[in-house]
Amino acid sequence: MKVVELLRNDGTPNVSYEIVPPKRGGSVSEILEIIEHLMEFEPPFIDVTSHSAQIYYEEQQDGSWRRHIKRKRPGTLGLCAAIKGRFGIETVPHLLCKGFTREESEDALIELNYLGIQNVMALRGDDSGFQKPVHGDRTRNEYAIDLVRQISAMNSGHFLEELIDAAPTNFCVGVAGYPEKHFEAPNIKWDVMNLKNKIEAGAEYVTSQMFFDNTSFFEFEAACRKAGITAPIIPGLKVLTSKKQLQSLPARFHIQIPEDLASEVAEAKDHEVPEIGVKWAIRQCDELLSRGFSNLHFYIIQTPHHASAVVKSLRKLA
Ligand code: FAD
Repeated sequence: MKVVELLRNDGTPNVSYEIVPPKRGGSVSEILEIIEHLMEFEPPFIDVTSHSAQIYYEEQQDGSWRRHIKRKRPGTLGLCAAIKGRFGIETVPHLLCKGFTREESEDALIELNYLGIQNVMALRGDDSGFQKPVHGDRTRNEYAIDLVRQISAMNSGHFLEELIDAAPTNFCVGVAGYPEKHFEAPNIKWDVMNLKNKIEAGAEYVTSQMFFDNTSFFEFEAACRKAGITAPIIPGLKVLTSKKQLQSLPARFHIQIPEDLASEVAEAKDHEVPEIGVKWAIRQCDELLSRGFSNLHFYIIQTPHHASAVVKSLRKLA
């Protein structure tokens, strides 16, 4: 089923999750254990992130530098197929522009089509050290909208090369939205306009970047509706679990941690932080649910236990 068919608006929590593939060479069993744990909460779908190859340089004994290209966390497509096959649940592989040619994206989409995976999240990806594609380079997608266009074309039976027997694909495409604006966008209006363009190019729903202050999400949603975006917008949430995240989350994701939460965490003992984070997330979800946002999306980086503590509590409240 498509993600848009799995969304609900009946006031009861409908919680999906995003997980990260293991590091290269890591065991898949840990991830499958996480999903096993989450199955208790009947998630409508699971997103699996994608990680483009990174370029790094290693100094050699003779003082020269050797260039390496390495994909730290491969396996998004295989993991999606494994989860879907084992648990019978829909999965959403993330596909990136950065680090992939349009031909490689087409190949990945063909694989997914054969695997019966109908949902994808189209993203630009962040800087991987590769040169930015030259404007007009048709071998690579520059912005997420270019990937959305490529998938929409495949859904109409148009592949990169005109194929006589091409069977149209039937992908439901999700895209990213930023309640606190994407860090490169000069202002929220510009960012929302680019989001609207992604929807008009064929994306069917939006998943938001994580946020800790619901006001930013409500304002973003209102700005999207004002701009004419009618597609569902799923709030993305994360449970803050360590003091370190007061710095690392804003630095990595360009988001703000509200003062109240930051000072409570800063004053607490390390072992008290997860409980503070869980309580904060419950309050966020409670308010989102009361404002009609039944579909919630949790980012899970290492352990599912904090997100499930939130979901358990919401179920009791429902
Ligand atoms: P775009 O929609 O292309 O937007 C990027 C920036 O360019 C924005 O500022 C936008 O306003 C601007 N822009 C868009 N179109 C144009 C245009 N035509 N001309 C000029 N400016 C334009 N990253 C990963 O590497 N792997 C993942 O699995 C992953 N999953 C994510 C899931 C979610 C829900 C979210 C919110 C983010 C995720 N990211 C992931 C991070 C994402 O790749 C980065 O935030 C990236 O910097 C932007 O991606 P995008 O798809 O939003 O880009």
